[in-house]
Amino acid sequence: MATKPSITKGQMKTFCAKLYKSKKKWVLYDQITLAGEIYNHCIALHKRYYRLYNKSLNVYALINHITKLKKLSRYKHWRQLGSQAIQDIAERIDKSYKLFFRNQKHGIKSGTPHFKKRTNYKSFTLKQSGYKLLDGNRIKIGNKIYKYFKSQEIEGNVKTLTIKRDKLGDIYLYIVTDAENLKVAPRTGEIVGCDFGLKTFLTVSNGEDVESPLFFHQNRIAIRKTNRKLSKKQRLSNNRRKARKSLERLHKRIANKRSDFHWKLANELTDKYDFMFFETLNIKAMQMLWGKKISDLAFFSFMLKLKYLASVKGKTIFCIGRFVPSSKTCSVCGYVYKDLELKEREWRCPECNTLHDRDRNASYNILRVGASTLGLGDVSPLQTMAISA
Ligand SMILES: [Zn+2]
Repeated sequence: MATKPSITKGQMKTFCAKLYKSKKKWVLYDQITLAGEIYNHCIALHKRYYRLYNKSLNVYALINHITKLKKLSRYKHWRQLGSQAIQDIAERIDKSYKLFFRNQKHGIKSGTPHFKKRTNYKSFTLKQSGYKLLDGNRIKIGNKIYKYFKSQEIEGNVKTLTIKRDKLGDIYLYIVTDAENLKVAPRTGEIVGCDFGLKTFLTVSNGEDVESPLFFHQNRIAIRKTNRKLSKKQRLSNNRRKARKSLERLHKRIANKRSDFHWKLANELTDKYDFMFFETLNIKAMQMLWGKKISDLAFFSFMLKLKYLASVKGKTIFCIGRFVPSSKTCSVCGYVYKDLELKEREWRCPECNTLHDRDRNASYNILRVGASTLGLGDVSPLQTMAISA
């Protein structure tokens, strides 16, 4: 799995890596289950304390209490889990309680943190100790050494390590370091308008369009096949469980591919352009227009990544109002062609006789409306075209 920047505050960077499959992962499974057990124990203590005193149990008192319990033979299995992981659990519960009390003070309704099912407990976090990164792709957690798929050097000082089990039973490491997330990209002076589409993912006003990968479409046959297999299996059978797992694996692979494509593209675009204008996404309308394929493309999650990278790099992403008729307006003379139909990919302006490519024309209009809204002056798309040609 690729290592990619995730969305964190400040100058932190998260590296994600999958652990090799090995029997040792059961040790980690046990620790995750144990973390769940301790979590529920802490919740029970909190609830009892709250019932008695109507206030929150102090986090240090709680940690001390757990440390004492670990010495008793009845709780000696708790010693398997690093003390830092226990501290993290106590602190997290403390945070949610503080939030609960603050909400209560302001009359906002919210619940206290509640018990979690064993099967829903998925991870534990270590801070400064309890693990060690070794040479190559090895990591020591507790007293065991594990290997992971390493696609990138881990930069910076490690702040936390989270060990997480996913639906498929694979274990992932999330390593948060203080490395600077991304360098600020230099100013390029480039301004573009962009229009999302089905075949062409992005039509860019300077002509440098981005084609759609349609991973989902490519994998549709595989998904259909796996789905069919699943439906033929007997309910509650082992084979059915296996088939469901392989379907989940397929979905996950596609999601990973899509996310990689989004990050890569967002990175490229935010390097290249200083200002990018878009139409405000109207997912409902797009779905009515294009049907299922829209979820393949996941414009919305792409925009989130793009906006995030732009904010880090000091670039501007701006969405123009939803009601600007960007496709129907002639970008040369301003004539509005009201009867434009969806299937018309090209149209000729009856006023100035210009032949328009539907999406390209929209990208020009998005650029112009965006630029004038932000007061960048009258940016002529044809001029930028000429420069880039
Ligand atoms: Zn015209």
